[in-house]
Amino acid sequence: LERLERGALTIVEALMKQGYEAYLVGGCVRDKLLSRKVKDYDIATSARPEQVKSAFARTIPTGLQHGTVTVVIEGQPYEVTTFRKEDAYEDHRRPAGVEYIDSLYEDLRRRDFTMNAMALDLEGRLIDPFHGRADMEQGILRCVGEAKERFEEDALRILRCIRFAAEYSMEVEGATWEALLAQVHLLKHIAMERVRMELERMIAGAAPVKAVKLLAASGALRYCKLPLLLADVSPDRLSEGLAQLHSPLERWAYMYLQLGAEAKAVEEELRNLTFSNHQVEEVRLIIAAARNVAGCLNGDPAGEVTASSYGESWKLAAVRFGKQAIRSLGAILAIDEDAAASAGIESGQARSLAGGSAVWLDEMPVGKTAELQINGGELISHIGKPAGPWVAPVLQHLLRAAALGTTPNSKEALLLEARRYDQLTERER
Ligand code: ATP
Ligand code: MG
Repeated sequence: LERLERGALTIVEALMKQGYEAYLVGGCVRDKLLSRKVKDYDIATSARPEQVKSAFARTIPTGLQHGTVTVVIEGQPYEVTTFRKEDAYEDHRRPAGVEYIDSLYEDLRRRDFTMNAMALDLEGRLIDPFHGRADMEQGILRCVGEAKERFEEDALRILRCIRFAAEYSMEVEGATWEALLAQVHLLKHIAMERVRMELERMIAGAAPVKAVKLLAASGALRYCKLPLLLADVSPDRLSEGLAQLHSPLERWAYMYLQLGAEAKAVEEELRNLTFSNHQVEEVRLIIAAARNVAGCLNGDPAGEVTASSYGESWKLAAVRFGKQAIRSLGAILAIDEDAAASAGIESGQARSLAGGSAVWLDEMPVGKTAELQINGGELISHIGKPAGPWVAPVLQHLLRAAALGTTPNSKEALLLEARRYDQLTERER
């Protein structure tokens, strides 16, 4: 047995020794039956939270209002939740109040899908009153009980349904899908943060294109202010290559690139979806790089610092869009040969980035002005001219020169080069 599972069974056994019922439940049972890697083991028990707390040496009261106590075994946290029933649902969101019960059956009945409503006892016997195993074997995703009511109680289940159908490549059972279509409008009651978290998991998951297609087919995109850019075009334009990108944010960027969306519109959309500033910026820069990099691959506008190789021109691009965005662009070019052409990037140039030769991005001594050994103030006092619009272009020039290594990133060398460049451009003016 794996260490994680051993810890979970230790908890089940300890609770049973004290006379309570206890089982492994939910996602871990599903993933074990499918021989998938189990992310975390959840335990359901007839013991009340206070009783769980006193049964173990180390506990954390993580979700007492939901009946959940986190038990720590060998440094590993496990969620132990008292059998419960959820009382009145409000506004199509999960209820605040819970009612503790003594029956595992009732606890399984409140769960969303048959494959998520199974339990395993200490001896490894499956408790499966809603035939989740049979559904899984036939590749069917089905609500526990009356689907229409289940989506009405908690509209987030609509997105969970789509996520599980995509991730586990299952077919949504007929009545469940009908109910989902009828209730999709209720998604408007769900906080955007929770929606965004589900979407993130869909796009980061095993079948992002299928997830987007289901989102579109269900009407979720159009009716619920979910990604509007995605809703505006057919998801048929998305390539399955999407799933080959490792980084989730690269996937978002590539998705929007395929749909022809502009960086500005994407930025607005991701903000509405409550993505963090950092996430929005990363996606925006990848899109901006893909759209505009072709024009800047040939170096310095003043012709002072010119790239003499593909590598050097990508370094200059990294100065403009950031190293991370250029690396991501490389990942995209590597899985999609057409992407280079549509971005106006010459094929040799594209290959030099996509072929894993991004080592020269690591080699770059500096990637942004903040990394230069001088700042604007020092530059102004050294050149001896009042601050003005001349400063920014000089700093940009120094950044490019230092990035390519033609000027060392030291105070003296940079100031020398700054004086030379300033005089040169002065003369030109
Ligand atoms: P994963 O963690 O891989 O997404 P999971 O099934 O473990 O899958 P969790 O969100 O961790 O999903 O929830 C654990 C269990 O709690 C589920 O298997 C399901 O039985 C139940 N559950 C979670 N969310 C809901 C919900 N919105 N409605 C009903 N039951 C739910
Ligand atoms: Mg889980």
